[in-house]
Amino acid sequence: MSRYILALDQGTTSSRALLFDHGGAVVAQDQYEFTQSFPNPGWVEHDPLEIWESQLRAARGVLAKAGAAASDLAAVGITNQRETAVVWERASGLPIYPAIVWQSRQSVSVCDDLRRRGLEEEVKRRTGLVIDAYFSGTKVRFILDAVEGAQQRAEAGELCFGTVDSWLLYKLTGGRIHATEYSNASRTLLYNIHERRWDDFMLSALDIPRAMLPEVRDSSGEFGVVDAEWLGGEVPVAGIAGDQQAALFGQGCFESGRLKNTYGTGCFLLMNTGTEPAKSESGLLTTLAWGINGQVEYALEGSVFVAGAAVQWLRDGLGLIETAAESESMARGVPDTGGVYLVPAFTGLGAPYWDERARGVLVGLTRGTTREQIVRAGLESIAFSSRDVVDAMVADAGLSLDCLRVDGGACQNDFLMQFQADILGRRVERPAVLEVTALGAAALAGLGVGFWRDRADLEASKGPTTLFEPRLGAGEADLLYRGWQRAVERSRDWAE
Ligand code: ADP
Repeated sequence: MSRYILALDQGTTSSRALLFDHGGAVVAQDQYEFTQSFPNPGWVEHDPLEIWESQLRAARGVLAKAGAAASDLAAVGITNQRETAVVWERASGLPIYPAIVWQSRQSVSVCDDLRRRGLEEEVKRRTGLVIDAYFSGTKVRFILDAVEGAQQRAEAGELCFGTVDSWLLYKLTGGRIHATEYSNASRTLLYNIHERRWDDFMLSALDIPRAMLPEVRDSSGEFGVVDAEWLGGEVPVAGIAGDQQAALFGQGCFESGRLKNTYGTGCFLLMNTGTEPAKSESGLLTTLAWGINGQVEYALEGSVFVAGAAVQWLRDGLGLIETAAESESMARGVPDTGGVYLVPAFTGLGAPYWDERARGVLVGLTRGTTREQIVRAGLESIAFSSRDVVDAMVADAGLSLDCLRVDGGACQNDFLMQFQADILGRRVERPAVLEVTALGAAALAGLGVGFWRDRADLEASKGPTTLFEPRLGAGEADLLYRGWQRAVERSRDWAE
């Protein structure tokens, strides 16, 4: 009798492996960091073999910790840092270039070229994305240009491209399977999210040979079998999703209008919009959430660049607090900020403003302003920026919203979660298991092999949720939010 699902959570700085039992609880976990390379300003690269080796080590490590064997596993699920691009030789399984990480800006000139050709609207219409070095397609173009002979070899079918899920699947299955699934494919800039196929127009715009692309499958269902060499026995890989979509699934956001916010360094908001894609008027991305039993669901995605990072700045930049957690007691030490707002537009502003020349401001200071008020303003900024994105999503999707599901490091701050509920005028729900990204991958895999019967079975297995109900009157919340909007105006168009 299989007892566990093994989730592989391949992140930007570490490879993790977690074992989930049938009750959805984490039984054991293991984690290894790997090298970050910055060969030029703005470039970020990983060694694909180090990604693979650290992931395998974590998978073996978590089994050892739990005293489990491959025979205890019903399935493996994979979730991964999205958009990161790997190109390898089909025959040898060796990469031809480092993995170009999602954060990396090395393909900006490829993007400039697409823009010069006036393709912005076309790209958006086909892929749901914007032209940005963030997405995989321009990174693949960069690799094919950087490695001599790569273009011809790719055309001859000798090379494979994959996002990190696809790379891991290839390695896990001993080079037998070259596949990915909807959520990862929809981040490549090469995939038509409406027609659900690799997009000829995009492939030709970037001159990327079709022969190097993985097959796109459902996110849940059998992808292949892990070679017995790796875990001491064969196990099916039965679920895959990119990290943010996996978190949306792990949060149980199965119906349209359901929204999750991950409070990490930045905030990542995704809203399930159901079986129809929503078009954004405010610069949000339209993306595939997942595909199950041949039915896909879509999501709107928006992010806040600086969220938990504002707390880090209060700690490391200003020295106002010693730990991130201390921000909570300090914020509670004052009844309000006394009209102080911090807009942490340190690197510009994302959705819905899209102002790269915006810079941070601290406004409303008086002779009486205290450090408690500044720290509180820092936490409040996270909730205000999240509301900016939520309002844009609700408008774009034309859906009503009853609650916000939360995860990520900073969601442990009860003051912040209460303030978020107050400012949104909606309930905030924090799950008992905060490992929702890994849980999402485990859930897709577990549903794929019948470990969990259906989504309701899975939901029933989750522990108690902490609820934060809005306590502030709508008038008061709107007044505070209007102050935020005025502060944002002061931050805009600043850098020259
Ligand atoms: P990431 O995955 O982006 O590295 P995490 O989900 O690990 O982020 O969350 C870490 C971030 O959350 C940091 O920016 C940190 O400042 C912030 N953070 C952690 N704990 C708290 C807390 N109790 N209150 C406010 N912010 C916090």
